[in-house]
Amino acid sequence: MAEHLASIYGTEKDKVNCSFYFKIGACRHGERCSRKHVKPNFSQTIMIANFYQNPELDPECKLDKEQLQAHFDLFFEDIYMEFCKYGQVEDIRVCNNVADHLVGNVYVRFSLEEDAQRAKDELNKRFYAGRPLFVELSPVTDFAEACCRQYENGECDRGGFCNFMHLRHPTRALKRELEDAQRLSLREKSGRRSSRDRGDREDRDRDRDRERNRDRDRDRDRDRERERERERDRHGRESRRHRSRSRSRSPRRGDDRR
Ligand SMILES: [Zn+2]
Ligand SMILES: [Zn+2]
Repeated sequence: MAEHLASIYGTEKDKVNCSFYFKIGACRHGERCSRKHVKPNFSQTIMIANFYQNPELDPECKLDKEQLQAHFDLFFEDIYMEFCKYGQVEDIRVCNNVADHLVGNVYVRFSLEEDAQRAKDELNKRFYAGRPLFVELSPVTDFAEACCRQYENGECDRGGFCNFMHLRHPTRALKRELEDAQRLSLREKSGRRSSRDRGDREDRDRDRDRERNRDRDRDRDRDRERERERERDRHGRESRRHRSRSRSRSPRRGDDRR
């Protein structure tokens, strides 16, 4: 029974959990959905709902195809750089769908769950182009499952209202450039980290040397002190001997005096 439930979890056969929310992170019924939207407490992926404002959707839009791509590339570059501040970004997907629950949705998958969490917390306080951001942890980790296969093949007849992701892609060269830049900056960061570690190690070694020198100085001082004591003792013995000698002489002197 449990095995059966696990095997149908988040699929269309699952009568309890919403398969759309599970696979795409958004469902057209939203909060009113009759099936459960199980929001993850941890995830590598964040979703920013209705983030990309596609000028094409404005009926007054006069931009041509090239200008629209340039508009999107600018947006993509902007957000890519921003997300990289929170950690290693594995993938960014932007929906080209037009239905309310998917229009302009941006999905960002980080390498680490804690980076996704931090990005969510921080970005929820932010505005972009004058609009507040709504960021949530998303159950989507496999974008292949979320995307509309027919659309990828140019065959989806549901158009922008399809409930699977129709993706908008940045220019290939731009994407490559951004990914290379991230790789480089990660490498630099890890280089800085290891040189910082090296610095720490040097500091530690220096401290240890200083400690050792201090010990040596202390030992030397102690030796000197001991030497001085011995010296004092010797002197003391000698002077005592001397005194006793002179004392032994003094009776004679006294005898003389007497
Ligand atoms: Zn649903
Ligand atoms: Zn489709």
